[in-house]
Amino acid sequence: MIVLVVNCGSSSIKYQLYEMPEKKVMAKGLAEKVGESGSMLTHRRGDEKFELTQNIPNHKVGIELILSCLTSPEMGVLSNVKEISAVGHRVVHGGESYSDAMRIDQDVMTCIEECSDLAPLHNPPNLIGINECRAALPGVPMVAVFDTAFHQTLPRAAYLYPLPYEAYEKYRIRKYGFHGTSHAYITHRAAAILGKPVDQVNLVTCHLGNGCSMAAVRGGKSVDTTMGFTPLAGLMMGTRCGDIDPAIIPYLLSKPEYANKVAEIDKMMNKKSGLLGISGVSNDMRDLGDDAAKSGPDSRSKLAIDMFCYRVKHYVGAYMAILGRVDAICFMGGIGENGADVRAECLSNMENFGVLVDTEKNKTLRGKEGDISTDGSKIKILVIPTDEEGFIAEETYNLCK
Ligand code: AMP
Repeated sequence: MIVLVVNCGSSSIKYQLYEMPEKKVMAKGLAEKVGESGSMLTHRRGDEKFELTQNIPNHKVGIELILSCLTSPEMGVLSNVKEISAVGHRVVHGGESYSDAMRIDQDVMTCIEECSDLAPLHNPPNLIGINECRAALPGVPMVAVFDTAFHQTLPRAAYLYPLPYEAYEKYRIRKYGFHGTSHAYITHRAAAILGKPVDQVNLVTCHLGNGCSMAAVRGGKSVDTTMGFTPLAGLMMGTRCGDIDPAIIPYLLSKPEYANKVAEIDKMMNKKSGLLGISGVSNDMRDLGDDAAKSGPDSRSKLAIDMFCYRVKHYVGAYMAILGRVDAICFMGGIGENGADVRAECLSNMENFGVLVDTEKNKTLRGKEGDISTDGSKIKILVIPTDEEGFIAEETYNLCK
């Protein structure tokens, strides 16, 4: 069975074609700057890479171009689009309606539309992607895999904010959590590595990339997570601030420079903060590592790295306390999979909690699966490359096979 996975952003379309159940990647690619000048499509088939610089004025043209690449005699892997049996869509927000992937019908479409208010940058392009795929592949089942779904098991005490209860009832203000496909995939992989049934594993999962989030997983289910009502909450990220005192916002608004500039403050917190905001150098952890090595321990790059690790450690401690028993702490995402120094720092001085990083194993493990804890560590420390697309393909296959 051939499954196409589509991740439609406001100006991009990421895609990956799978042969299931083997989860073999047949082709993949990315259409960028859709609806903007300089649009292009990068298509990959095995080790071959094809770059198509051409006008992609909208998502409809983008989807058609992707399908034509997949069936092209020079670049393709299919003889006809009819070979595609199902399409899995990444959908950012499913609100409180869905705790699992769903076959897309009118009810699901309505829910995604209703959640657009909660995710105005993401759900509308997700909907466009679904509609364009439906038009291009009539009759082919479509599945929505929600970024929020895995965290729908949070208990009320964890997902409510201590605002007046009406804020939840009237405006749906609560913690939703994101990166759910990544935390769910890692939970399944970690259970397999630990040789335990999924419903018996307790984990602290750390997705550290440009966006960062952590989850506390009890019995295979998310019971707390760092992102909140939006993906701005929780950890310090590439350009996002994560948790700050909410009173900072009205305080800034009271200053002449920011009077009535809510959008400016929003941009500051989302695009100009985090690693970039503190270092003034870059949002990229590799750049900060290089700059800190060059500029020394008093540099702002070093400070940004220290703050990043401090906040991860803060939540590791919090989630260990919430879970009581932890089988493994898992690292994924670009920094989690590759950043040995960051991993070591996040878990430093935790011997008394049964967390011991093996320095050698940690140093040598990059971008692949492995255990970096010492033999004496009570809690395993796993590095697991995340695979959100593969997880979406699996969910889609399971619903459509
Ligand atoms: P992602 O959003 O998951 O692609 O992750 C992007 C982040 O991973 C960026 O901050 C990169 O600097 C970081 N990253 C990638 N490779 C490394 C590495 N070798 N060491 C540290 N950070 C890395």
